Amino acid sequence: LHDQFESEHHLAAETLDGEHVKLLVNAGLELSSDLASANFMDGVGLYRTEAWFMQKNAFPTQAEQEAWYRQVLSAYYPSPVVMRTLDIGGDKMLSYFDVKEENPFLGWRGVRVSLDHPELFLDQLKAMLKANAGLGNLKILFPMVTDVSEVSQAKRLLERAYYELEDEWSDEFYTIEMPEVGVMLEVPSSVFLIPEWAEKVDFCSVGSNDLTQYLLAVDRTNARVAELFNPYHPAVLRVLNTIAAQCQQFELPFSLCGELAADPEGAILLVAMGYRSLSMNPGSINQVKWALRRLEVRFMEDLLAECLMQPSAILVQRLVRNFIVEHG
Ligand code: PEP
Ligand code: MG
Repeated sequence: LHDQFESEHHLAAETLDGEHVKLLVNAGLELSSDLASANFMDGVGLYRTEAWFMQKNAFPTQAEQEAWYRQVLSAYYPSPVVMRTLDIGGDKMLSYFDVKEENPFLGWRGVRVSLDHPELFLDQLKAMLKANAGLGNLKILFPMVTDVSEVSQAKRLLERAYYELEDEWSDEFYTIEMPEVGVMLEVPSSVFLIPEWAEKVDFCSVGSNDLTQYLLAVDRTNARVAELFNPYHPAVLRVLNTIAAQCQQFELPFSLCGELAADPEGAILLVAMGYRSLSMNPGSINQVKWALRRLEVRFMEDLLAECLMQPSAILVQRLVRNFIVEHG
């Protein structure tokens, strides 16, 4: 079956009725294995910068970061690379940055840490902007956003990074450009701020892993409650559906980069909701593409309508599985 998926790797992810769906990769660690997929996808939908920081023994300098980001941007050039600013805290810790908390998932995480340490944040932003000079395929994404003021502050720091660099920049060939900026929708509050995001940012990316965790109040790393962590929970699906509708209404480009997109069953529901950009681990691209290429959107939409009325995740998943058997 794996070979079957591979056989279509060079083709576009297009549904039977001609809807194009962008498939991007989530990346962060192994540049070589990420690279292997570079020829059959539409770019990097989520580059987790913290993965590289986690391998170090101290904070990498601005120059080290610049070199690394440049390698990543060049590797995927001219496809877009959505680089997420440092998302530490929660389940991702750095050995050289002490954060001990009773309740880390509700604590000092993501953009909260960056805003409390503008010197680290500015280093990272400047490294990204410099790495992007002459390339132009960088987009910047802020994680764990819960509030409009966080994004205002983050954007102000990005502007400061940009102006400071402009002053010190002496390269006569390349100029520093202001990239597109986006927010992750992974905390319930952020879902209710889509009209504000449409004013403030260029795009958003749904982090369905954390969004599921926070909507269902289930620690995504706790084995004892692992069975309760289910993105097919009707409440999660309804929220994802609302996000798609609101982003369309307010003309905010949107994408999804959680594990749900890597599952053909999940991808089908997301496409039915209106998602046309899905980012996933590179190993899942071919099977998602395979499934989408065999289905028509109107049938997926009928399926979605039924799924949204189900009272439980089990019933949703049963419906989707039957659908795939019938149509596949
Ligand atoms: C998510 O939360 O869905 C996500 C993509 O980010 P991460 O898994 O890195 O928290
Ligand atoms: Mg997340």
